[in-house]
Amino acid sequence: MANLPDWQTGRSWLSLPVMKIDPELQQAVDAIRVIDTHEHQEEESARLARKGFDFAWLFEQYASHDLVSAGMPDDHLQQLLKEDVPLDRKWTLFEPWYHASRNTAYIKAAEIAIRDLYGIDELNASTAVELTERMQSRNKPGIVKWILQSEAGIDLAQVNALDTTFFRKDTDRSVFMQDIGVVSLLGWPLPLKQLTEETGIEIKEFKHYVEAIDALFDSCAPMADAIKQQSAYFRAQRFEDVPDDDAARVFNEALKNPDRIDEQQQTVIQDWGFHHCVQQSIKHDLPIKIHTGYKAGCNYMDVEHIKPTKLTNVFLKYPDARFDLFHIGYPYQEEVLALAKHFRNVHVDMCWAWIIDWHASIRFFKQYLTAVPANKLFAFGGDYVIAEPAYGHLKLARRGIARALTELVEDDYFTKQQAIQVASMVLRENAIENFRIDKKRLTTPA
Ligand SMILES: [Zn+2]
Repeated sequence: MANLPDWQTGRSWLSLPVMKIDPELQQAVDAIRVIDTHEHQEEESARLARKGFDFAWLFEQYASHDLVSAGMPDDHLQQLLKEDVPLDRKWTLFEPWYHASRNTAYIKAAEIAIRDLYGIDELNASTAVELTERMQSRNKPGIVKWILQSEAGIDLAQVNALDTTFFRKDTDRSVFMQDIGVVSLLGWPLPLKQLTEETGIEIKEFKHYVEAIDALFDSCAPMADAIKQQSAYFRAQRFEDVPDDDAARVFNEALKNPDRIDEQQQTVIQDWGFHHCVQQSIKHDLPIKIHTGYKAGCNYMDVEHIKPTKLTNVFLKYPDARFDLFHIGYPYQEEVLALAKHFRNVHVDMCWAWIIDWHASIRFFKQYLTAVPANKLFAFGGDYVIAEPAYGHLKLARRGIARALTELVEDDYFTKQQAIQVASMVLRENAIENFRIDKKRLTTPA
């Protein structure tokens, strides 16, 4: 054991207190090649075309939300993330809020990446310059696979692309698979132009709308890992079962007089749309990924939108669907446990969770394993656009998983062998099975 790094032995690890982790369990968890079930990763070509590549970039997603929560003014954050603001000015804006919030796992995920990938242990005014230089010199073809596959140990990451309305066809299949994003069908105005562009079907009445959605599924489903919707960001997750005729009447009226459609009528079409997408997903054997719980960002959350139990009517109606509830429904994770324990068609995804609340995630993981069948848990999704903090996030997840499993073995609940087997299921095997990865993957990683 003498040659193991500190984070594997539990001696000390960044600023976390010394914890009791069985080194054999940590090693076993670290060795698992992960199937990452949720990212927003950009393609490498998009990354290499970016400008303004500096230290602040590693804190843009999520970490910046904690800077703001700590008190950073909005205009200071905007300057921090601008291309043309000098580095020393950025450091001055960043430093007080960084020190105020560097206890959180959002920040820690970035710090772990900075330490392991760029060799910098402590961020300060001078190392921020050095870090920026190292990031820029490393930013060459191969960088994304180096971080995700070689360093993080991720074989494949499932991506909900944010740079396209429905589906990113042009993707590096040796590292990514793509979700079909259906959230725009649950918003307003409906993405009719984009549907026509995608399918070639001109939408002049409701039946064309149905044909276009079905054509979208027909063309994307064979390549897709799942569908994804995150409408909890703007609406409650109760989707009424609307008859086709009612949806058709409102839809056709909306085409004629869009200004006369009120919010309640919009909801009729959106509710119908979600049910239709679930039906198409069953037809095409696709899991249904749903954002539940906490909202990214700051100063706007409506907790009424995010409760996972609001979805119960669709779990009841579609026993043949495979629902995948994201983010442990935080802070309603016990609702998620009860739903997953009760419904055969409900799976649980810990994507994003380890950095929202690391300690709650350890508790959740342990609780899950004593309450819900292990084959329905997907234990990691980085949920990042860029690769570096996803690396840091996975380090936190592997550490938390080893910690929870150590406790379960100590409590005589699992044997060590059972613990290792469960880790492999939740980080890899369950995802391969649920997302039909062997069948759909076109190439294997190098
Ligand atoms: Zn996400």
